[in-house]
Amino acid sequence: MNIQAYINGEWFVEPNAEQLSIYNPAEAKVYAQLPIASAKTVDAAYGAAKAAFPAWSNLPAAQRGDWMRKLADGIEARFEEFVAAESRDSGKPLHVSRTVDIPRAMTNLRFFADAATQFASESHSALGGSVNYTLRHPLGPVACISPWNLPLYLFTWKIAPALAVGNTVVAKPSEVTPVTAHLLAEVAHEISFPKGVLNIVHGTGLPTGEAIVNHPAVKAVSFTGGTSTGKRIAKNLAPRLIKYSLELGGKNPVLVFPDADMDEAIRTTVRSSFANSGQICLCGSRIYVHSSIYESFRDRLVASAKTLIVGPPEGDSKMGPLVSGPHREKVAAYVEQAQADGATIHVGGTELPSEGYYYPPTIIEGLSQDHVCFQEEIFGPVITLHSFDTEEEALALANDCQYGLAAVVWSKDIKRCMRLSVGLNAGIIWINTWLNRDLRTPFGGMNQSGYGREGGQEAMRFFSNVKNVCIG
Ligand code: NAD
Repeated sequence: MNIQAYINGEWFVEPNAEQLSIYNPAEAKVYAQLPIASAKTVDAAYGAAKAAFPAWSNLPAAQRGDWMRKLADGIEARFEEFVAAESRDSGKPLHVSRTVDIPRAMTNLRFFADAATQFASESHSALGGSVNYTLRHPLGPVACISPWNLPLYLFTWKIAPALAVGNTVVAKPSEVTPVTAHLLAEVAHEISFPKGVLNIVHGTGLPTGEAIVNHPAVKAVSFTGGTSTGKRIAKNLAPRLIKYSLELGGKNPVLVFPDADMDEAIRTTVRSSFANSGQICLCGSRIYVHSSIYESFRDRLVASAKTLIVGPPEGDSKMGPLVSGPHREKVAAYVEQAQADGATIHVGGTELPSEGYYYPPTIIEGLSQDHVCFQEEIFGPVITLHSFDTEEEALALANDCQYGLAAVVWSKDIKRCMRLSVGLNAGIIWINTWLNRDLRTPFGGMNQSGYGREGGQEAMRFFSNVKNVCIG
């Protein structure tokens, strides 16, 4: 596979670029090489993005939307190729790439294509006749940097609103899962997408990601990834006061009350714990269950986890491998630590394949709330169980964590759910549901889970400069 940077509508080859091996995690085998872009390549990408900005930003919004729909149509025309590439790169089951990742990438482009024509600004009229109105302008070249867990899904989630507002883009997918971003560049090339508007470079955080963030031409950075990387980006941008949006890690609590629909709570908690092998920032990983139902809930959850088929992307597996060898080692180290500290470990899943970076669905109990397994993001198929006696205690346990991305509440008591929604420190709260997404809603976390919001108008506003005009 020949992965290359895509700059100014052309394939861009950097002579003597250092190469990175790309692994297929289901087989633990190298199947591609990735040229790591240096600052020089990044500079060429910004040169193209700057030159393309006036024409793209002056295009009527409907025409920008048309181009974005063509990108989505181009993905659809090669749908199965995108599906296969996403599963080969990340290890996720083919049916997940087919029903979640690739359809959502197309939806992101189409959703924001529509948003381009619906983006409106505010007007405030005051007594005495003065009127204020707000102008929102695109910023210029912006950076979009994404992680490996939902590769094309999150890549397009950033690129689409940036383009819709009229910005030009320098984007970098994760070096762990670069292939669908390369295929997107092929689509852009096939449809003669306007040159320089979407530039895609590949490489590691250092040097490539850092060169993207630190480039003098960048007007805003939209980043999704780990909390420590996000902080480093914020530090790099602060002296220049460049705007940023950071979607970072999570350690999401799930609260289960005795009045919940137990069948639904268990079915969905299995999904929210182990979907994408637990490698979704929104996965529930700290499960707090009322003491009156704790044992029956645990037993049913463990029994359900044991039925999950863990295996290669092809076939009927529910869970694929973890994304890489180093990531599996990190996940395993947390479970070994829990075991060493006296926890009970329930391991589920069918027999794991011998090759590949597989890890079983794992349920841990018997740890105290201050244990690292309750406090740090593991980002794998590993959950911890804890009981509580009162609503106040459940809330305190849920909020006792540095992260604040999502929280799930299972209860039929609407007043309780409303009280908890006010009290929970999380940017996204799901009541009797999980991963129920409406792309118009604000998406993002608080505390160590990030800064800023994506989704709908929030994303469109992030990617624009605001100016108030007052007429007296
Ligand atoms: P990561 O931070 O290691 O890498 C993310 C991206 O940043 C990659 O493209 C990487 O090359 C790049 N990068 C690394 N160092 C950089 C630097 N110094 N400057 C600029 N770019 C740099 O994260 P990851 O391991 O790819 O992804 C997993 C993390 O992402 C988890 O913590 C997960 O919770 C988080 N995540 C958050 C959300 C959300 O919406 N909040 C969604 C998905 C994943």
